[in-house]
This record gives sequence, structure tokens and C-alpha cells, in this order.
Amino acid sequence: MRVTRILAVAVLSAALLFTRFAVDGPAGGPAAPPASTGIMVSLSLGNPAAAVPLRTQGPRPPQDTPVNHPPFTQTLRASPGDTLSGMLTGAGIPRIEALGAIAALGTQYDPHRIKTGQVITVTFQPGPGGVAPGRFLGLALTPDFKRLITVTRTEDGRFRASTVNRSLTRRPARASGTIEQSLFDAGTRAGLPVSVLFEMVRAYSWDVDFQRDIYPGDSFEIMFERFHDERGSVVHSGRIVFMALTLSGTRRALYRHTTGDGQTDYFDESGQSARKALLRTPIDGARLSSSYGRRRHPVLGYTRMHRGIDFRAPPGTPIYAAGKGIVEYVGRNGAYGRYVRIRHNSSTSTAYAHMRRFATGLGKGKRVEQGQIIGYVGSSGRSTGPHLHYEILRGGRQVNPLTVAMPAEPRLEGEEMSRFRYAMSKTKRQFADLAIDPALAGRGNE
Ligand SMILES: [Zn+2]
Repeated sequence: MRVTRILAVAVLSAALLFTRFAVDGPAGGPAAPPASTGIMVSLSLGNPAAAVPLRTQGPRPPQDTPVNHPPFTQTLRASPGDTLSGMLTGAGIPRIEALGAIAALGTQYDPHRIKTGQVITVTFQPGPGGVAPGRFLGLALTPDFKRLITVTRTEDGRFRASTVNRSLTRRPARASGTIEQSLFDAGTRAGLPVSVLFEMVRAYSWDVDFQRDIYPGDSFEIMFERFHDERGSVVHSGRIVFMALTLSGTRRALYRHTTGDGQTDYFDESGQSARKALLRTPIDGARLSSSYGRRRHPVLGYTRMHRGIDFRAPPGTPIYAAGKGIVEYVGRNGAYGRYVRIRHNSSTSTAYAHMRRFATGLGKGKRVEQGQIIGYVGSSGRSTGPHLHYEILRGGRQVNPLTVAMPAEPRLEGEEMSRFRYAMSKTKRQFADLAIDPALAGRGNE
């Protein structure tokens, strides 16, 4: 519940941010009523523009008003499977114009990279009387918080795209709090953005069980990056630089560090990565529905050994590679259904069963990274419903993924450790000198 609310707030503020950002002439207000498009369509007139005068509700616009109505803007949001051309024609833009705008956009940004949830603002000239969208004028999108890309129609009717890089300053912010109910609750009260909280939870999730290890009175400290625009407003919260959780009196501090070979991770003060080589739970938001051990088999009916763990999840939920490795098997495998096995080193492999489908391009001998999507939850093989059956194999034998000691990443050493120590002492000084931002702490009270 709480998470949903926070997410809603985050989405809303992202939308507000976008609106502020995309203001373009006098069109900063709410988007054009999509209803006008709907009416045009449902009348099925040969000339949809003829439908405009049929809208009689609202005050009649004065006939002699010169044409200086603000342009109409409409906000489109990409849904799964959407293409930009589909979205634009769906908004009533003639196909040839949509394709012209997309071709122009292509000089700045690959239109195929538009992801689900991406917001695109389209602008129209006001139609007759200013009551409905007229000619398509262009579009704008922010593929990331640093860039605004606009496509505008030029005098000669063609489209031209340009990118504006925002001049942003990166400054660290500091927060801390005492946990009463949950880390999430304490974090939001301290004004931490959801993205930062998620990153914090993710970093500690290898060692901390957030349901069992947190008690009232435990506390956290954190320093993370924020990006400010020219007016000083925060437009984006970046990565965590330092964080510490004090649980039952034990303080666990983690520092972000990028190693010489370009890998960024969180490390404790001894140079040990917080990350383990294998994930215990290679899926998000799933419920453990069957543990490792002897059980009555739900399909076969008799008692037998369950040599993995089951996570119940909606069909189509992504399944991640538990660790870096090489795909050893991908395909049908009897009762396992669609099955993937990954070899992580000479002794350890992981296996994933009952998938609905495999990730595109996944094949035997392919290299995968930890957290890479390898397939999607299904119910193939001998299965009673959509779930992931997950196994960890040591020397070819299944072991219990919930209790087996997870291999640690190698500790930083030598030159790398000296670099880390130097960066860590700088971070500590910076954290100590940084005042807690009262605006940040105040935000949690909203
Ligand atoms: Zn199972």
C-alpha cells in the first residue's frame, strides 16, 4: 500500500517535472482534451476537421478573435508493444507527417529505443476557433533527465530535430533517520526518493533480511547525488555514494566504488563487495511457494524430494540470471518444461524451470551477466500453475538455495584497495562536512 502510494507520488512528480520541462510557449497548461479526437473518430466523417464546429458545448468563441490561440499539446505515454508511429497516428496525426517527424527524430535519438512509460508531448496548431487540435506542429521527449529532444515543423513543412542538454550541477545530499516501523517508512520520512531507497535496499539485500533483521531503534545514514537545474531545483536523484545501516548496534557502511576494470559496486570498509556471486532469489516480487526438501508432490501425489525452490509469480514475470556465467542448456527438458541452466564456475550451476519463453537471443554457450533477463515465468512441463522452479547445483547435485553459503566476490586488494581507501576517506570527510538538507527532511511530511 505504502509503496504504491510512494510510487504514485514519484510518478506524479516525474510527470510534473516533465511538464515544467516541456513548457514550450504558452502551452504549459493541461494537455489538449483527447476527447476532441474521440468525437471526430466516432462521427466517421470523411473530413474529420468538419466535426470541429459540431462541438457546441462551452461558451461560443467570439467570431472576430484573431488566431492567437495557444497550441494544443497532448501527452502520450508508451505502453508495452507501442511503436512511435502507432502512437502518433493513434493521436490523429496523418501517417506521412508522423513518419516525417520520426525520420527527423532519428537524427538525434533512435526511435526504437523508446521504452514503456516514455512520455511524448505532441503539439498541434489550434484548429478553427481554437477549440480543437489542427495541424501537427511537432513533438518533444526527455529520454533521460539530462536531455530534451524536440522535433518541430519548419516553414517549408519539413521536420527538424534538436537536442537541448540541460546545464545541471551535481551536488551530494545527506540524510539520516531512525527506524520505527520499516526502513521504507523511515526513509520516506527523511525525504529520500523512492529510487534511492530501492537502491539502498538492493545493496543490502545480500546480507540483510528486511523482514527479520530490522528492529525499532535501528538507524540509517546516507549520502547520494542530486542534480540541480539553473534555478537550483532538484531535477534528478542519482546514485548513492555512501550509506550505513546500524542494526541492533552493528553499523554496516557501504561505499560506492568503480574498480579499474570499470565495474561499479558497493564495498564495505574492508574492500569486500556487498554483492554475492549468486542471487538467492532470481526474480522480483515473487512469493516463495515451496521450499527445498521432502514434500507431497502437487501433481504426482506421492511424497518425494523437492530439489529446488519455487517462486509463485504472474506469468511473464522476468527471470534473472543468478550470477555471471555461461548458458549450458536452453530448451525443453521433460518435466522441467522450458529450462535454462547456467554454469558459473567449475563446480556451481543454477537452473530455472517451467518458463513460458526464453529471452530473445539466449543460446547454449552464450555469456550472461548477473541480473540479465534469461526468460519469463510460465507453467511449462509438469506444473500446477505459473511459477519459477529454481535450483543451485554444486558438483552436479542440487543444494538448498536458501541455506547454501553464497560465494563472495573477491576482496579488493593491492593498488585497487589503496585507491578505494583514498576515495573512502574523501567520502567520509565530505559526509561529515555536509549539513542535512532541511528541505530534504521536510519533504517527508507532505
Ligand atoms: Zn519446484
